[in-house]
Amino acid sequence: MKPFTFGRAQTVPEALSLIGPGGAFLAGGTNLVDHLRLGIRQVDTLVDIRRLDLTRITATEGGGLRIGALVRNSDLAAHPLIRQRYLFVAEALLSGASGQIRNMATTGGNLLQRTRCVYFQDLTTPCNKREPGSGCAAQDGFGRYNAVLGTSEACVAVHPSDLCVPLAAVDAEVLVEGPSGPRRIPFAEFHRLPGDHPQLDTTLRPAELIVAVELPPLPLAQHSAYRKVRERASYAFALVSVAAALRVESGQVADVRIALGGAAHRPWRAAVAEAALLGQPATADAFTAAITAELAPARTGPHNAYKLPLIRNTVVAVLEELRDGTTARRRAEQGGEG
Ligand SMILES: Cc1cc2nc3c(=O)[nH]c(=O)nc-3n(C[C@H](O)[C@H](O)[C@H](O)COP(=O)(O)OP(=O)(O)OC[C@H]3O[C@@H](n4cnc5c(N)ncnc54)[C@H](O)[C@@H]3O)c2cc1C
Ligand code: SF4
Repeated sequence: MKPFTFGRAQTVPEALSLIGPGGAFLAGGTNLVDHLRLGIRQVDTLVDIRRLDLTRITATEGGGLRIGALVRNSDLAAHPLIRQRYLFVAEALLSGASGQIRNMATTGGNLLQRTRCVYFQDLTTPCNKREPGSGCAAQDGFGRYNAVLGTSEACVAVHPSDLCVPLAAVDAEVLVEGPSGPRRIPFAEFHRLPGDHPQLDTTLRPAELIVAVELPPLPLAQHSAYRKVRERASYAFALVSVAAALRVESGQVADVRIALGGAAHRPWRAAVAEAALLGQPATADAFTAAITAELAPARTGPHNAYKLPLIRNTVVAVLEELRDGTTARRRAEQGGEG
């Protein structure tokens, strides 16, 4: 590991003054420390932000929530207002990692965790995300986990976070402080598609610190669910996942939100499917047609074509459950830890 300077900040201004070029903030450390150890990431300065006063969850006007960047994943999942107002956020968090990791991992760090593409983690292979211009071993290699939407020639990796999928569905905002002051980034603009610069995961600028995530009021999210399909029942990243919320009136879709995980380089808001569903009968046929339209531009390789039927079937199953009010039964049957 390359030597670096270590600083511990007590306040946000102090964290910003310590960071400097080539620096990184240390939150829970569950992703960053692994990358430093493996040599995937090198820093000149590490600024420990764990003492900053960013650990509160507060109700905002009109029924929204502000989540401090250092709120632990386990605390967020257990918070009564999250469970009451944004159940799919709690479900997504509880489906991720293990209890021990959730006790360390933070909200801000979760948004910035890096892809689990096996080649990104393997220093012996080319990877445009780890080393820009070196190539992409995943294009012709082991492609089972590759993205199907929004890919580029440069990168086909997926975003790994569970939490970010419902955050995309609710139109969250990311609040940051940085050298040029505070700003708010709409969630849809926070994570990037790979394009020609897959080394850039987000639109966060150098030395910017996430201070909070805000969830707008969204009564619809009381009728929401998160479903994660993975290779084993616990402790695995999503092959695909779906966050959805649905309101049906007189048999027709009155309001709907859908976002996909495991599908793209960023949490994928299924805006085409949502638009196709509004005002339509809340039937399996309509759900299928809507998600099929969303997936029309998808590109697959020999190893990941299975993701298209998997996404379609999972979206339809989640929407049917929400329509029928049977989500609670599945939750009870599944039980257990992430
Ligand atoms: C074995 C294992 C299994 C896992 N399984 C899952 C899973 O199933 N689903 C899932 O979603 N996640 C999973 N994770 C990932 C885990 O959720 C992330 O590692 C965690 O959320 C990162 O948060 P952290 O606070 O530890 O971030 P850190 O590791 O401290 O930081 C991650 C990155 O974010 C930056 N950063 C952190 N906080 C801020 C901030 N406030 N402002 C600016 N930059 C910041 C750091 O500099 C670093 O670049 C797993 C992790 C492990 C180790
Ligand atoms: S898919 Fe992206 S992260 Fe994976 S090897 Fe290619 S460039 Fe690297």
